[in-house]
Amino acid sequence: MLRSISFLTSFVFLTTCATSHKLPEATSKPAVILKLDDLWNEDGLVHPGWIQVMDFLNQEDIVGTIGLVANSLETTDTAYFAWINARQKEGHEIWHHGWCHCKPVFADVAQPEFRGTPATYQLDNLAKAQHLAQEKLGLTLHTFGAPYNSTDATTATALAQLPDIKVWLYKETAAPTDKFLLPRISAVNIEYPVHQPDFAQFKAGYDQFKSEPVLVIQGHPRSWVADASRFQEFQKIVLFLKAAGVVFTTPYAYYQRQGE
Ligand SMILES: [Zn+2]
Repeated sequence: MLRSISFLTSFVFLTTCATSHKLPEATSKPAVILKLDDLWNEDGLVHPGWIQVMDFLNQEDIVGTIGLVANSLETTDTAYFAWINARQKEGHEIWHHGWCHCKPVFADVAQPEFRGTPATYQLDNLAKAQHLAQEKLGLTLHTFGAPYNSTDATTATALAQLPDIKVWLYKETAAPTDKFLLPRISAVNIEYPVHQPDFAQFKAGYDQFKSEPVLVIQGHPRSWVADASRFQEFQKIVLFLKAAGVVFTTPYAYYQRQGE
């Protein structure tokens, strides 16, 4: 009996050593997802902020994501569709960032699109976006992230009826869901405050959380044009991460790797 325990202990010890010897290599760099929000079709144009960001990412051979506000597809502007499709073909993920990004009024109160609004309204908005992305872009959206990151239990119930959506970015409630969650770590972001990229603050947050398996960092490219320093700070963040050897990925690609 004693001998078998001793054998077992040795076995566990050896196994643990073998595993811990391998771990630092495998987990030393986080995966990074650039959660970029708010693509609209504006006056027949893709906003210059989006164009400069996607051009930069392509030049650096880095994948990002594009949070599409889907009612922007209610147009006949084929150049807009072609721009989105081209980014998707380059490897960037187009994701569901709501139907209208609006604050509809129910019972005299303006609410975020997916918080406090009726179940039929939420499901309708979620489904309309899926349908129009399929119809106009030939794309199935696999990832959802709410406008204002504002949802409720109704959203979780509605999303359960959309099996094509696999991933939920920044879910902020405890409502049960079958979606794969990519949570927010509020200390690690592109913008401090919202709309203002800040390399120094990002770096402080990154140093604190770089042992996490994945960091989903949020930004708003449309806000980085008026003041050139904003885009420069974003570039510094991305180039720092590239030099650090992180793996840039997208939500759906990261989800698909789970269980491999
Ligand atoms: Zn947004």
